[in-house]
Amino acid sequence: MAGGLVGSEILKIAADIRELGREGVEVCNLTVGDFDPGQFPIPTRLSEDIQDALAARQTNYPPSNGMLELREAVQRFYGRSLGLSYPVDSVLIASGARPCIYAAYRALVDPGETVAYPVPSWNNNHYCHMIGAKPLELVCGPKTRFLPTGDAVLEALPKARLLCLNSPLNPTGTAFDHRALQGICEAVLAENRRREQAGERPLYLLYDQIYWMLTFEGVEHLTPPQLIPELARWTIFVDGISKAFAATGVRVGWAVGPVDVIKRMSAILGHVGAWAPRAEQRATVGLLDDPEAIAEYHAGFKSGLLARLRGLYRGFAALAEDGLPVEAIPPMGAIYLTVRIAPFGKRTPDGELLETNEDVRRYLLDAARVGVVPFQAFGVGESGQGWFRLSVGAVSEQDIAAALPRVAAALKALR
Ligand code: PMP
Repeated sequence: MAGGLVGSEILKIAADIRELGREGVEVCNLTVGDFDPGQFPIPTRLSEDIQDALAARQTNYPPSNGMLELREAVQRFYGRSLGLSYPVDSVLIASGARPCIYAAYRALVDPGETVAYPVPSWNNNHYCHMIGAKPLELVCGPKTRFLPTGDAVLEALPKARLLCLNSPLNPTGTAFDHRALQGICEAVLAENRRREQAGERPLYLLYDQIYWMLTFEGVEHLTPPQLIPELARWTIFVDGISKAFAATGVRVGWAVGPVDVIKRMSAILGHVGAWAPRAEQRATVGLLDDPEAIAEYHAGFKSGLLARLRGLYRGFAALAEDGLPVEAIPPMGAIYLTVRIAPFGKRTPDGELLETNEDVRRYLLDAARVGVVPFQAFGVGESGQGWFRLSVGAVSEQDIAAALPRVAAALKALR
């Protein structure tokens, strides 16, 4: 299993960019799903409360399923901001969203069982590999903004033990609309009614909403239990502060779901030891219980993200108007923009033929000093041809404004 694990494609690309940096070449780095703390610091209150908690010697083991104060704070937070009501035993704290995803896969899926998920998607292929699950990939395209619909999942559900969804979606920055999610929820409900009658184990729904607080005007974040309350029995939420508060290195995440499943996940993580540090947990309580601090922080944070995403979006729209082979999908949430760059069949000034996304990625890095991630890093093959993820967490608006003319010049230099 370990020998067959594939490393992150994105980290490989990031290594290329670091190498250029060492040579003194400045790159507009749109590759990492992370934040430059210089551009996007964590909330002041979170930072101060972590330091206070450490000073108050919050340095021993936390309870393995999370500190009760934080589990209660998440419970209140979901009630207040999502209208979801759960007992505190439905909440599990871990060191970020990743351990929660791993524990959900581990708890729900036996080796050889099937996990269905749309592609492009983030890392489901790797979790399947670790668990020994059979991946059932549902290929989504630009017509549905790369998200699945009820019809798209229908055939897969009878075969699957687990369906994994993510909205807003990494890598696309797009989010479910009411109709698509409603369709999927109805399909899951119908499948579980059938299984109940047949005495079969249920289908579970992993709902990764790590970016839900980062949705932009006019986009409402939706959850399965809000649309069909009965789905709470089978939905496991994965969430945390990593993206919502630019706190990727602080390592506090949580899962919320049916008590029996959460208990099993907690038992697994207890042995893994993937706990969030005590001081960080303590500080997260204060943050989640402070709606004003959250609103104030998000006003600045989201407008900063949106300004960058819009800058890129408008820039690519202008290139398309100029007749260049590009297109962009309007940003709805998260920190990503989906862009099509398709100069296939053309040659670079050095005479190299551009045939694949990898060729285009390399050319843009060499000729325009812009780093982008091909959709192939997100589990798609041919269908991702031409499509790229652009991430804005580590660049300024000026970086973007300076990079766009370089992209234009590089594309215009093709023959
Ligand atoms: N889910 C999605 C969709 C993500 O993009 C990421 C981070 N790239 C994670 C989960 C993992 O979050 P964390 O850093 O809290 O483990």
